[in-house]
Amino acid sequence: MAGKSTDSSSCKCCFCNLLIDSSFSDPCEIDILINMDKPKNQQYSQVFYCHMICLKKQFHAEIQQNYFYLESLVKSKNSPD
Ligand SMILES: [Zn+2]
Repeated sequence: MAGKSTDSSSCKCCFCNLLIDSSFSDPCEIDILINMDKPKNQQYSQVFYCHMICLKKQFHAEIQQNYFYLESLVKSKNSPD
């Protein structure tokens, strides 16, 4: 199951169900908060793990192109100046 694990090195992707090897961007953690417009006592959260590429594929093409910037942040941080 792709639920919360204390050992993120052996977690599975919630989209493809494959183990996530550590890489320049993986593993990714998805923190979901429901009822975000409600009082705190009516909010609930759940955590999943995934590959960044699997997460990105879930977004609409326009969102991927114009708003999904995590990859570029990681790449720019890891590239030599
Ligand atoms: Zn995956």
